This record gives sequence, C-alpha cells and structure tokens, in this order.
Amino acid sequence: MHHFRYAGQNLHCESVDLAEVARLYGTPTYVYSATTIEDNYTRIAGSMKGLDVRVCYAVKANSNLAVLRHLGNLGSSFEFASAGEMRRVLAAGAGVRESVFAGVGKTETEIRLALEAGIFAFHVESEPELARINHVAGKLGVKASISIRVNPDVDAHTHAKITTGTSANKFGIPLKHASAAYEAASKYPNITIKGIQSHIGSQITEVGPFEETLEKLGPLALELKERYGITYISIGGGIGVVYKDALASGPYSWWETLPEAKRPLTPEVYGATLAPALSGLGLKVLLEPGRSMVANAGVLLSRVEYLKRGQGKNFLIVDAAMNDLVRPAMYDSFHEIVPLRRDTTRRALVADIVGPICESTDCFAKDRQIQEVGEGEYLALMSAGAYGHVMASRYNTRPIPAEVLVKGSAFELVTARETFEEQISNEKIPAFLK
Ligand SMILES: *Cc1c(COP(=O)(O)O)cnc(C)c1O
Repeated sequence: MHHFRYAGQNLHCESVDLAEVARLYGTPTYVYSATTIEDNYTRIAGSMKGLDVRVCYAVKANSNLAVLRHLGNLGSSFEFASAGEMRRVLAAGAGVRESVFAGVGKTETEIRLALEAGIFAFHVESEPELARINHVAGKLGVKASISIRVNPDVDAHTHAKITTGTSANKFGIPLKHASAAYEAASKYPNITIKGIQSHIGSQITEVGPFEETLEKLGPLALELKERYGITYISIGGGIGVVYKDALASGPYSWWETLPEAKRPLTPEVYGATLAPALSGLGLKVLLEPGRSMVANAGVLLSRVEYLKRGQGKNFLIVDAAMNDLVRPAMYDSFHEIVPLRRDTTRRALVADIVGPICESTDCFAKDRQIQEVGEGEYLALMSAGAYGHVMASRYNTRPIPAEVLVKGSAFELVTARETFEEQISNEKIPAFLK
C-alpha cells in the first residue's frame, strides 16, 4: 500500500500535487511519501507477533538524510554497508548504538570509526575480517561485538545480480565452516560473540527461501546459544515488492485481491510464516529490510522532451536517464510509468521511453503503452524509492537529481539538484598542462 493516487486528473503524493513539485523544483526529481515509509515500517516491525523484533533498515536502499531521520524517529535502527552510510545516520541525528555493520570489505578505518561510534555489532563475512576486527579493537582498547554472516546456500529465485545466499556468491561463511569460524572468533581476546546473521538476496517474492534458510540456520543458532550465549539472530532483508501495475486499483494494489497463495510476499505473510520457527530459538530477531521499506514510497518525476516518431517505432524521450535511475539498465527491472496529468480523452501511444544518454541501455521501458503525451508534460516512474537515487551517477556530466519529501500536505526539497560548479569542484588542471 502506498500514498500515490490521482485526485481528479492529477497524480498526488499524499495531498501534494506532483505537477506542482515538478514545476517548483524542476526534473528529474525523486519524491518520497513519509506516510508510506511509516506504513511500511509499522507493518514489518509488527509482523512477528510475540517476538522481540528490531528493525535495522538497510541504509543502502535509500540513504537520504531526511529518510534516515524519519525512520530513526519511528524507532528504526540501521544496517550499514560502509562507514559512509554509518556517518549518514549520525549526520541525520539518528543513533547507531543498536545498528549493525555488514559488508565483505570493511577497511581498518571503517572498523575503527564503527567501534568509536559504539555500534551494536559487526556482521563478519570472512575469517581474515575477524582477525582485523580483533586487531583494531585491541588498538582502541575495546571489545568488538560480532555475528558471523552464514551463507546457507539457498537459492532465493531472484535476479542473478541480486542473489547473495548461494555458495557461488562472495558473501558470508559457508554453513559447514560456520562452527569453526565461531570457534576461532571465541579465541580472539577483543571479540565478543553476539549473534548469527544471514541475508540471502533481494527482491524475493516468496517465503520459501526464507523458511529454508531458517531450517538450515536453526540448529546452528541453538548450538551457538548454548556454547557462546548468543542473544540474537538476524535474518537479513530481501522482501520483494510489486513493481507491475503499482497504481492500478486505488489504495490497494491489484494483487491484494488475489487468493493468499497467489499473492507476492507481504510483510504480514513473511512474519506469520517465519515467527513459529524463530520463537523456538528464544533469541531476539533482527530484520534488515531495505527495498520493502522505501521502494513504493518513491517516484521519479521526469519531463517529456520529445516524441520522436520513428519507422514502426515511437520514442518518448524524457529528461531522466540511466544515470538518475539505473535499475532498468542494470537489472532489466520494470517500473510503471504514468502521466502526472491523466486525460482519458487522449489516445494511447506505444513507445520506448528513453533518456538522452548515448547508450542503448538508457531505456526505461520498451514498447510501453501510455497515454499520448507531448513536450513539456510530466511523467512519474513509480516504485523508484529503493536503489534509485543512491545509485545515481554523473555520467554524461548530468547532475545528481533532487529529492523531495512529502508528508500530508507539506513538502520540502531535501536534496538540492547538484550544480555544474559543484560537479567540477574537486577537479583541477595539473601544473604541467598550464
Ligand atoms: C542489501 C542488504 C539488505 C537489504 O536488502 P533488501 O533487499 O533491500 O531488503 C539487508 N542486509 C544486508 C546484509 C544487505 O546487504
């Protein structure tokens, strides 16, 4: 459920007319609904009745300071993939003492910064990382809390580029080596064993792979509790969202009327299915949702520049491009694209919706049917709140796009569009060329 809908002819985010946002701040601009984020947070945080659950929002999905602050205010903790992400949480005025740090390549500097900030735990991905964390903690005279990320070798049935829990991936320590890795960890003087972690991939739309992961991890978790007194299990993120027909039928998505067995995974089904196995462990449960917290809470606004009618093919050329939203080019992903002003008297158009970048992959949609629109009119790319702005680049010397946060009838620019001067400010001509 999200808070984007047509009021009259105009697409609104909560009570705000998106065309007004586009006119005020220009395009391309990301717009986020604070109420949708709050709903998503509340649903996932309350999905496992009777269990002690902590949500550690995966910052990499959307690391805008206002989004982080909003989630912090709601009671969320965080999961970082870099020290930069941790510093963003701190800069947003949210705490990190209940937050966790994952990633296969943590540097010494990152480990030191995280220890100094007093994070809850490191999620360790290799034996050499254990040695490094122990070393840095020793230098600082502190103890580092850790969990080992266990790779359960489960196929999450998702896109190959976002699968992380099979033995072919670089992530975590294989299940059969995990016991030995914990044994090694227990021998380090500056390390405290706190829990166990697993994250099998992203955009997972069925609960089966999560159940399989728990089946594999459960016995090990109990053994670790017995042996080292671990207090929590983190089952990672990965809950998928529905990208198709995101706007189709009012406040609820089209699929919410399907029989339960046929619906894509919801936080409620995820929670209700996994809670029984989890409650048997008697551990605190950490959830690390990223995409499912923010994807449907964001849209990317774009302006139509040209309608180019080709031979047997139309191209709708818009002012957003793969540098602003790379998901279609990188993961072949689908985003629903709708006009900000709906006019049912207009004809439909079938077109490739493309950006201006000199790459054939700069294409948001192929042969997409859309209401006929022309130069100067606005479109919204739906479900762009996760892995959108955070992956934006400056390719073709295009600026990093602006971001706006909406709550009710209030809205504010939370990231100004980058200027040309800012873009070149770190560059210089060397003396030997002068
Ligand atoms: C990316 C990531 C997440 C979040 O994944 P989503 O699919 O966005 O929910 C959680 N945990 C870890 C360790 C990750 O790398």
